[in-house]
Amino acid sequence: MYDFIIIGAGCAGLSAAVYGARAGKSVIVFESGNVGGQITSAHMVENYPGIPSISGMEFADTLSNQALSYGAEIRLEEVRKIQDCGSIKEVFTDEGSYRAYAVIIATGLKYRTLGLEREKELTGYGVSYCAVCDGAFYKKNPVAVAGGGNTALSDAVFLSDYCSKVYLIHRRDKFRAEKRLVDMAKARKNIEFIMDSQVIKLNGEKALEDIVVKNNKNSEEKHLGVKGLFIAVGYIPVNEIFEEVGILDNNGYINADETGKTCVPGIFAAGDCRSKSVRQLVTAASDGINAALNVMGIHDTNH
Ligand code: NAP
Repeated sequence: MYDFIIIGAGCAGLSAAVYGARAGKSVIVFESGNVGGQITSAHMVENYPGIPSISGMEFADTLSNQALSYGAEIRLEEVRKIQDCGSIKEVFTDEGSYRAYAVIIATGLKYRTLGLEREKELTGYGVSYCAVCDGAFYKKNPVAVAGGGNTALSDAVFLSDYCSKVYLIHRRDKFRAEKRLVDMAKARKNIEFIMDSQVIKLNGEKALEDIVVKNNKNSEEKHLGVKGLFIAVGYIPVNEIFEEVGILDNNGYINADETGKTCVPGIFAAGDCRSKSVRQLVTAASDGINAALNVMGIHDTNH
């Protein structure tokens, strides 16, 4: 029996674990992917207040060690279901079942795919969703990045250090990414911007050899001979297992306000999986802390 169970060891879940464990509560965190979550695939984090520059991996390591140092447990188990048994919640993983007085769901988001015909088959064989993890495989080779947000722009800048050429393919003529990242990318001579365009086909026998890019304005198609395509077109929620408890909105996010409270007492949500408009590292941390303090019922006491 735990005071609270946290589902997801990303920034929100680990921040909740730090606050819970530091307050002397018994806290267990379940993670089915990599501890640290989304931020582990960020080359550098430069906008977390108080930390001018840190790699995503180091940030995640520091945060998980901080949670562990206060006594939180982190287990690599996949949560399959949660059951609301009134004042007690039961969480079922692929290895067992666990009980707690409260559950904080901090499952984050998963990357969006382009939905191309051979995308799944070629993932790991030229198609990647993580430039920091896979970029080094393409040293001195040309690669492409799809997307126009902060991830795509920072991936392009990161890859331009290793790769002979980086094609940045974006479906519109304006970037969603912040100006500083766009300016950094523009300053790199080996980044070529391909605007108003989309990747429409992936070619290659066993691995990616070539992509077809279509201009959305004039419908012109061209081939780019790249062995690496980094897809950075945003994220989507993965909350299907929580549908049964009736806490999802129409878009699959968890309906919870800033306190993290859902419509089910004792079930909280924090971070990117929650229905909200700003999804940043610092707001994930803040969500985790809000949820942990609300679980402990001490939110208004300025602890
Ligand atoms: P994002 O901001 O949602 O951007 C996704 C990009 O992919 C957009 O440019 C979008 O185009 C494009 N896109 C979406 N679906 C597409 C499709 N089917 N085909 C082609 N293009 C498609 O995602 P993100 O860049 O991963 O960022 C996610 C969050 O993390 C954001 O809040 C971001 O600020 C944050 N982040 C911050 C940093 C940082 O260093 N500060 C780094 C990484 C991420 P449109 O623009 O046309 O919609």
